[in-house]
Amino acid sequence: MQQMSDSGAVVADGRGLPVGGFVCAPQMPRVVFGAGAIGHLEREIGLLGARRALILCTPEQRESAELVARMIGDRSAGIFDGAVMHVPIEVAREARARANALEADCAIAIGGGSTTGLGKAIALESSLPILAIPTTYAGSEMTSIYGITEDGIKKTGRDSRVLPKTVIYDPELTLSLPVGLSVTSAINAMAHAAEGLYAQDANPLASIWAEEGLRALASGLPRMVDRPDDVAARSDCLYGAWLCGLVLGNVGVALHHKLCHTLGGSLNLPHAETHTVVLPHALAYNAAAAPQAMRRIARALGSADAAQGMFDLARSLGAPTSLRELGMQESQIVPCVQIVMQNPYWNPARLTTPRLLRLLDDAYHGRRPTTTEENE
Ligand code: NAD
Repeated sequence: MQQMSDSGAVVADGRGLPVGGFVCAPQMPRVVFGAGAIGHLEREIGLLGARRALILCTPEQRESAELVARMIGDRSAGIFDGAVMHVPIEVAREARARANALEADCAIAIGGGSTTGLGKAIALESSLPILAIPTTYAGSEMTSIYGITEDGIKKTGRDSRVLPKTVIYDPELTLSLPVGLSVTSAINAMAHAAEGLYAQDANPLASIWAEEGLRALASGLPRMVDRPDDVAARSDCLYGAWLCGLVLGNVGVALHHKLCHTLGGSLNLPHAETHTVVLPHALAYNAAAAPQAMRRIARALGSADAAQGMFDLARSLGAPTSLRELGMQESQIVPCVQIVMQNPYWNPARLTTPRLLRLLDDAYHGRRPTTTEENE
């Protein structure tokens, strides 16, 4: 069990870094935040020393990219609207070639994690500075984690070249994000923060971001679901997403992310929805091994229990609660657990096959999370 005070400062022996103490070297882009903040785009491009920006988007968000192009006039080198989920290598190559051909000296990624991910794939080879304008709550813009899919396998890594230089958070740009996607994308963000609180390399600063990020999202989400056009609620959600992304960018993850990567990678289950279903169960699994983290998660949610509070929040927001409804088959539970056990991530609670089977069985059926003990 990790020994930490409530503040997240470590009280155990620090000589055995990183488990006993912590290393904290915050990495973060410049952030411009606020309703209407996109109006600062041209100035921000200038501050990067850039003159020709390639604008990236998905086909669905072409209109937003055209708006950006109009706003920056001569500084627009063109639009590449081919961003898709999981950054296929072919798309990355095409976008890199376009950036070269247009002599772009920066990339503007307007959209969610898929579009930011495409910008990262370009930056990985060219070091082209990225200016990200996130329109979901996924948080990729705050991390130096990239992922590129080749021959059906997504390879991920960390590289400081892919961390965006500037991020413009404008809650008005999230008003068009459908409520269902908003909820699952935000719970995906909450998963980064929750696991950051009990990550192997957790540190007190990241824990403050994590708790505050969870609190902002737990407060903003119900108001956003009630009134999707409420800019104040959308602002709280985007603020929370920023902090949760910052946690992912600065500390590691654990069992929850391993499960989601396995379910997404081998069964092709949808990314944010899978995070949404699994999170309460992963928290229950780790409850006994990371009690301080659980107290902080519960406090942020305004609940007596982290796992149950997360489950109730997701359910009250109308989010999916079972893997079955995401398209998983019951027969796939055992192979998934085998994959997790073959190549596990570090986790505060010991991973055992019977407990993982029970976790996935609960998540598959959409049951309330079960808090099992280490020795079960
Ligand atoms: P997404 O980027 O795939 O977007 C989903 C859909 O929503 C797209 O069609 C997009 O065009 C649309 N959309 C986005 N914003 C919209 C808006 N405001 N209004 C209307 N439509 C909008 O979804 P996502 O959840 O943001 O990102 C998921 C991807 O990001 C996954 O591939 C995941 O692996 C990756 N991710 C990476 C990191 C990282 O640190 N590298 C972190 C989180 C997520």
